[in-house]
Amino acid sequence: MTAHELYLLHLGQLGSRDPDTGEARFSQVPGYLIRTATGRTVLVDTGNPAALIGQPTAAPWWDLVNNTRPEDDLVARLAGLGIAPRDVDLLVSTHFDFDHCGRHDAFVGTGITSLVQREHLAVARDDPRFDPALWDIPGIAYTPVAGDVELEPGLRLIASPGHVIGHQSVYVETNDGPVLMAIDAISVAEQITMQRFPSTYPDPEAARQSRDTLMALVAATGAFLVMGHDAPQWATLRKSPEPFRRP
Ligand SMILES: [Zn+2]
Repeated sequence: MTAHELYLLHLGQLGSRDPDTGEARFSQVPGYLIRTATGRTVLVDTGNPAALIGQPTAAPWWDLVNNTRPEDDLVARLAGLGIAPRDVDLLVSTHFDFDHCGRHDAFVGTGITSLVQREHLAVARDDPRFDPALWDIPGIAYTPVAGDVELEPGLRLIASPGHVIGHQSVYVETNDGPVLMAIDAISVAEQITMQRFPSTYPDPEAARQSRDTLMALVAATGAFLVMGHDAPQWATLRKSPEPFRRP
């Protein structure tokens, strides 16, 4: 039995307003919890900062509308699984945008290791996009990894740069088949077929290559693709405290 159990964590919503109607269009802020076959508890990303709970916008981080309720806080979602931050054995940081690293502060003093791609760690300190007050937390051991890394059989980090330098995705073989959490390498469905990624990306060509790499992995393994911020897909998926099952 080498399969792992995966839980999708709903950690709030961010969105923008339709310029014509003023209506807010939201997509999810996700995190992922994996109980591994060897009994470890691995957390992938931490969602929005607690400071955003109940706030109308994502200020001071990004110019987005916000819908983060108390029950969306990472600590509350973990509690729903009977897990406290000190019970988490390993933190995988896909990247340090505020909606992915917003609750690193919940791990102050735990001595937890956070795995980050080496290139991301190298640029994050000097890029104002990545607020060090959120991710550079004393007592968390930010540990660089290089490229694809097998954490356990059937649980791998996949380097997927482009959205940011040193972005990473996560592949896991669950009790219900393989799942690929693309994170922001494929954040919405239109990116599956996009010819050219937006010029606002730090590296649009790397983003295209990463998308191709992830889609090749999906094709080769039959993995179910979970996109990073695709609201229509998210609405169809089973969230914690239920274990994930492929639709
Ligand atoms: Zn994101």
